[in-house]
Amino acid sequence: MPLWHNIAELLDYYIPPLPSVYWIDITRDCNLKCLMCPQARGLAPRPARMSIDTFKRIVDDVSENRPLLKLYLSGEPLLHASLFEMIDYAGTKACLTMIHTNAVGLTPATSERILASPLTFLSFSFDGGSAEIYERLRPPARFEEVRSHIRQYLDLRRQRGGGPHTTIEIIRMRDTERLIPRFVEEWKTSGVDEVRVVPYLTWHGLVDDRHVESPPPSSRFKPCAAPFQHGCILSDGTAVACCLDVNGVMPLGHATKNRFREIWSGNDYRRLRLQMLTATFPPDCICERCDNTIREIGLQPAIVPEGPRPTG
Ligand code: SF4
Repeated sequence: MPLWHNIAELLDYYIPPLPSVYWIDITRDCNLKCLMCPQARGLAPRPARMSIDTFKRIVDDVSENRPLLKLYLSGEPLLHASLFEMIDYAGTKACLTMIHTNAVGLTPATSERILASPLTFLSFSFDGGSAEIYERLRPPARFEEVRSHIRQYLDLRRQRGGGPHTTIEIIRMRDTERLIPRFVEEWKTSGVDEVRVVPYLTWHGLVDDRHVESPPPSSRFKPCAAPFQHGCILSDGTAVACCLDVNGVMPLGHATKNRFREIWSGNDYRRLRLQMLTATFPPDCICERCDNTIREIGLQPAIVPEGPRPTG
């Protein structure tokens, strides 16, 4: 056994600090069927919405170190009727909050509500380089309509003189590659705080490979940071290792039955961390075929603590 395996086994006794970032799957519904999202293939059955009681219980449990709560994972957060109640509640517990939206439901009234809320970060998942490509990738969204929603929000934010830190992003893939310079040029002067170009993910094989380049066959394994840094909780309270386990195939505990700190230091999490450090996954483990362990093709892994994820 290589020496570093022994070191990794010793590290098994080390429990990382509690996460400073959590993804909370408040809704599994979406109004789009984007080609690059597992939604388009259908998700495994789970409650379509997280109840407000479950949400409050989770916030009460994890708010101690004032984490960032990302209120999205597999669906479109604006579809949850209690979204603003959730943002307000997290704010009362001094948590930061973020939503990542496709902006289809971003009416002027919703924009006003966002600007009046304590939401900390807002991210638009747009991929809007051209109407033709956008509407092919994100049916049934209409390019001009969604672009005008985002523009209206930015106008309102300017008028109000404040609001959440706002980002717009495009996924770098075969379909969008040539449109990226135009996208960046258009939006960098629009009033957003940041324009992001994010790498394409296959969601460990749940969607087709639309990477611009394929990973070289000799790609080296590199451990993924998610089980050491992030908390992810699905709509029914199931804890999973990362925001890519949308179907909960690798459950690590249940946040309505146990405190998150117990799940975090539990055997399932510890076993996964050891497997991650030693690259010794069981044959059917999703980490084995994940973009975040198949090594690099010139871009950073998307699953960075502060980065939003592509959904809807
Ligand atoms: S390797 Fe992929 S599937 Fe495994 S924990 Fe990391 S992001 Fe999730």
